Amino acid sequence: MKRNIPYILFKRLDDIVSNPIRKKFRKEELKQRLLDHYYPKKLVIDAYMKKYTINNDTKSCDRVYALPLTYNSSIQSKTYNNIRASIHNLTNHTNTKDIFQNKRLVIAYKRNYSLLSFLKQYNFYINKCNEPRCKTCPIIQCGPLIKLPGRKVIKPNISMNCKTEHTIYCLLCTGCEKIYIGRTNIPLRQRITLHRQQTLNPQYAILYANKHFHSCNTNFKVVPLFYAGAHSTTSMLNFIESYFIRLFIPELNSSL
Ligand SMILES: [Zn+2]
Ligand SMILES: [Zn+2]
Repeated sequence: MKRNIPYILFKRLDDIVSNPIRKKFRKEELKQRLLDHYYPKKLVIDAYMKKYTINNDTKSCDRVYALPLTYNSSIQSKTYNNIRASIHNLTNHTNTKDIFQNKRLVIAYKRNYSLLSFLKQYNFYINKCNEPRCKTCPIIQCGPLIKLPGRKVIKPNISMNCKTEHTIYCLLCTGCEKIYIGRTNIPLRQRITLHRQQTLNPQYAILYANKHFHSCNTNFKVVPLFYAGAHSTTSMLNFIESYFIRLFIPELNSSL
């Protein structure tokens, strides 16, 4: 691989730079850079002197038929061997080889989806549960993005609604837009019922946030932030909650 680097760089330079004077200058520059980085002189000079054909890639593409296959590591290599053998038979058998004339049939492996591409590809949403009499539905903030006033916008890591368990959530004061961040193992709307009861009856409130909601505007919005997974433990929830507390710096998480 290391041996290939000078050839790849000179080839790329040859493709990109069309002005011959500038090309010569850039090639000299590249040669010197490679020598400065202790690439073997013989190798560098050979790569420098080599004649590269412009658009060589296009010409070689013209000579092949590509059969795209998505590479899947869970498929046994025997399956791929069978596909390769079939291609070989097809392109060499007297009955079929004329179809391809001078062209080759090759397998072009497409990359399988990675976890990152999966996360990029899918948009998750925060939704209402839409169950009759759910008191969280009217106050849950829905949509594909989590937007808190004056704070970084994030995307939900999975679709969530009022009934999602094992969740880190935010309560947003509708009076002053200050926020509280909490966690729950039980369905979100059951946790929200406790917040609502304590907000309406501040004498029973054990959280500063609920007293604040009562005195400020008596209303708050619910914003699910992160689903921690069905098997998340209390310490995992605590850990993730503290991450979001550092990220969003809520004003209402102080104790009474
Ligand atoms: Zn609901
Ligand atoms: Zn407030």
